[in-house]
Amino acid sequence: MTGTVTNWAGNITYTAKEVRRPHSLDALRSLVADSARLRVLGSGHSFNTVAEPGPEGVLVSLDTLPPVIDVDTRARTVRVSGGVRYAELARVVHAHGLALPNMASLPHISVAGSVATGTHGSGARNGPLSDAVREVELVTGDGTAVLIGRDDERFGGAVTSLGALGVVTALTLGLVPAFEVEQHLFTELPLPGLDFEAVMTAAYSVSLFTDWRAPGFRQVWVKRRTDEPMPDFPWAAPATGALHPVPGMPAVNCTAQLGVPGPWHERLPHFRAEFTPSSGAELQSEYLLARPYAGDALRALDALRDELAPVTLTCEVRTVAGDTQWLSPCHGRDTVAVHFTWVPDTAAVLPVVRRVEAALDPFAARPHWGKVFETPAAALRERYPRLGDFRALAQELDPAGKFTNAFVRDVLGD
Ligand SMILES: Cc1cc2nc3c(=O)[nH]c(=O)nc-3n(C[C@H](O)[C@H](O)[C@H](O)COP(=O)(O)OP(=O)(O)OC[C@H]3O[C@@H](n4cnc5c(N)ncnc54)[C@H](O)[C@@H]3O)c2cc1C
Repeated sequence: MTGTVTNWAGNITYTAKEVRRPHSLDALRSLVADSARLRVLGSGHSFNTVAEPGPEGVLVSLDTLPPVIDVDTRARTVRVSGGVRYAELARVVHAHGLALPNMASLPHISVAGSVATGTHGSGARNGPLSDAVREVELVTGDGTAVLIGRDDERFGGAVTSLGALGVVTALTLGLVPAFEVEQHLFTELPLPGLDFEAVMTAAYSVSLFTDWRAPGFRQVWVKRRTDEPMPDFPWAAPATGALHPVPGMPAVNCTAQLGVPGPWHERLPHFRAEFTPSSGAELQSEYLLARPYAGDALRALDALRDELAPVTLTCEVRTVAGDTQWLSPCHGRDTVAVHFTWVPDTAAVLPVVRRVEAALDPFAARPHWGKVFETPAAALRERYPRLGDFRALAQELDPAGKFTNAFVRDVLGD
């Protein structure tokens, strides 16, 4: 395939010397073995150069490989091939009476690309999406297939891997029994006096939204599993109609609200699979920090409201349980994640990104690997205690550096 390939947001044009779409695993293995430098493009929903192979490299898309979604109802697992997106996976899993424990705000993204960057949803007891992964199947630099399961000491580096270990051809995910969820929305939650832990643990998944134009949070999305008690939510007023997290956008793009129960995969994401998610014209950044800092961090950002408001479409605050993936932004700490949907104007956004990073620096914030950030690599490295182990794993599985790129080299300090 030739022609220009950009990411979903259109702010990155990949400079690959060619874009390849193999039709079989054998063709993929030969392509890998014959290429000097290669990166996989998932569904292209990252906002930075994490997927970029560079001008001498090959960008490979797996969306022409035969999709595999094999559910094992006895083991409660699903084996899913490298190009599959959450929307198609969730429909099949649900048809077997099973569920993924959590989903991101949109189902449009590929499973392999999402777990590679530490993608997450919300919920104080829910880890990032990579938490569901039981096994990773990779094609490494010489075309060899490698399987890394949970009992392999390399597993901690194998899932949130920034695409640096090889081509992920399949993942096996753990499942739970299917469940139903209701979305209850509230409006105008004040920041002063906010009992962050109580609000964020009120239900299975809770998100706060602000556009920083006024103090406090304009919207609170409370996602209750119908098999858990109805939470008391005395802190904000119930919404009187359906809402989109970006003020002014149509709520029809969003999953059903107003307490209407529905299956997990049609309630946990904010956006419906058949519609454009979010604003559609935007950039995004996100910072993840230890949850005890939530109050101080939100107050530090509130002090920047005048700078944030002109470039913010919406800002979402979520919680994620800590995990053990070496490069996970939630590694080793129960996390608060502060996400920004920015206007699609890089020149206007970057100075504000730097202001946000300076404000969150005292809290050792880790940026989302798939979004816009400017955090210096040296600071990043200090925030990942197992980074050296990941570097050694990349060296073991990819000694020729076939799957590396400028983004990964920067992070690893190579
Ligand atoms: C509208 C919107 C909403 C979003 N909401 C959320 C959210 O709720 N929570 C959140 O955490 N993030 C969110 N994101 C960010 C998004 O989840 C991440 O950028 C994620 O990486 C996207 O997956 P992708 O397949 O598009 O990855 P890509 O951008 O295509 O790739 C990401 C990385 O994965 C690698 N990769 C992909 N597939 C493979 C493979 N098979 N083998 C090896 N490497 C591979 C790529 O090389 C690259 O390094 C959102 C993004 C958008 C655009």
